[in-house]
Order: sequence, then C-alpha cells, then structure tokens
Amino acid sequence: MIITIDGPAGTGKTTIAEKVAAKLDYRYFDTGAMYRAVTYLIINDKINLGNESELETLLKQFQFDIRKDEGNKRYFVEDQDVTTVIRSREVTQHVSEVSAKPIIRAALVEIQRRFGKKGDTVFEGRDMGTVVFPEAELKIFLTARPAVRAERRYLELKDSVTQSTQEDVLQELLKRDHFDSTREASPLKQAEDAHLIDTSDLTIEQVVDRILALIKRSK
Ligand code: C5P
Repeated sequence: MIITIDGPAGTGKTTIAEKVAAKLDYRYFDTGAMYRAVTYLIINDKINLGNESELETLLKQFQFDIRKDEGNKRYFVEDQDVTTVIRSREVTQHVSEVSAKPIIRAALVEIQRRFGKKGDTVFEGRDMGTVVFPEAELKIFLTARPAVRAERRYLELKDSVTQSTQEDVLQELLKRDHFDSTREASPLKQAEDAHLIDTSDLTIEQVVDRILALIKRSK
C-alpha cells in the first residue's frame, strides 16, 4: 500500500509520516530531504542551474539513501552523511528554485517510483498524491496556520547555528510556499481525493490517530 502525505513546511509532515510508517511497519520516504540533498550538491559543486548538461551528469550519479542509526534517521549521498547540512539556511533558501526545474523533478520522481514498487511505503512531500503516486490507496494533505507553522520551524531551528528570528522564519516559509504553489512543474496542491487535516490545534498523536483511522476505513 502507498500512503502519501503532502503539505507545506511546518505542518508536521515529517514527524507524522515517520510515526505512521512505524505504526504500520511500512517504509518511510522523505522526498523533501532528497530535493534538499540535490540542492546541497549543486551549491557545493558550484553548478549553474542553467547548465543542463552539468545537471544531467550530477543526476546520473545521484545516490540518496535514508539509514537508521540507533533509531535516528540519517540521510546519505553516497557515503556522505548530509543530515545536518541539508537543513542549513542556505539550502532552505535555494531548494524551491532547484525543485522547480523539470529535469531535476523527472530524475527524482523516477527514484521515488522505483522505491514505491518495492513495497508498502509512506511518502511525504509536495506532489506525492498529485503527480508521483496518483493511484495511491490513501492520500493526506496537511495544512496549518502560517503563524503556527513558523513557530514550529523556529523551535526546531533555535538550537542550530542559524541566527533567524521567528519573523525571518515566517517570511522565508511564506516565500517558499508561494514559490512551491505557483511553479509550473508539479506545484504544491491538494489532490482532489486527498483527506485534508488542519494540524494547527492538534497534537502529533491526534493527527497520527486520525490517519490510522482513515487507513483502517480504506482497507
Ligand atoms: O519538506 P521540505 O520542507 O524539506 O522540502 C523542501 C523543499 O523541497 C520544498 O520547499 C519544495 O520546494 C521541495 N519539494 C518538492 N517536492 C517534493 C518535496 C519537496 O518540490 N515532493
């Protein structure tokens, strides 16, 4: 069974998708981390986004992996642990621009679909229910008020090196939402057959329970 969880930043997607997958003993795939990893490589290798042949070479070699280390998930590009660097402010500021490139989406969507063929998975992202897995058995779209999302993101980032205020986080989040929702290639939007859950006033456990109830009903 394929379960898709889409929605903008700060709605709780990652934590919720991980918990749902753990409860069901499904695999879990954070596609945002994958777009972040490509963005990190583009910045690091100083690749010009307009240079399609350089992008093609990068994408052909791109090997992304999610591994568990003492219960914590770690993201790898080949053997490099990129878990921390992909959350940097620089990557966050560039990821939407990178993700809007069709050549990049095509390569990453292929990897995601291949992964989906291997078995039961919870996929989390922006276009999982609309474009990557339109036939998914259960689709969820998470939303939350912008101020709530910004506060959650700010609390996550507070202890890192990033020197952002909560207002900076809100503005960057709104900018990214706008870019992701208005791009031509696979914009962020709710699939017609997705269940909408507003997480603003719910705990993580409440959202997970709602999703588990929907799964039970759909079987
Ligand atoms: O989920 P996260 O905030 O880590 O995603 C980072 C960015 O990756 C998003 O803002 C979006 O631009 C891009 N993304 C995407 N399609 C996905 C997942 C993420 O375009 N399926």
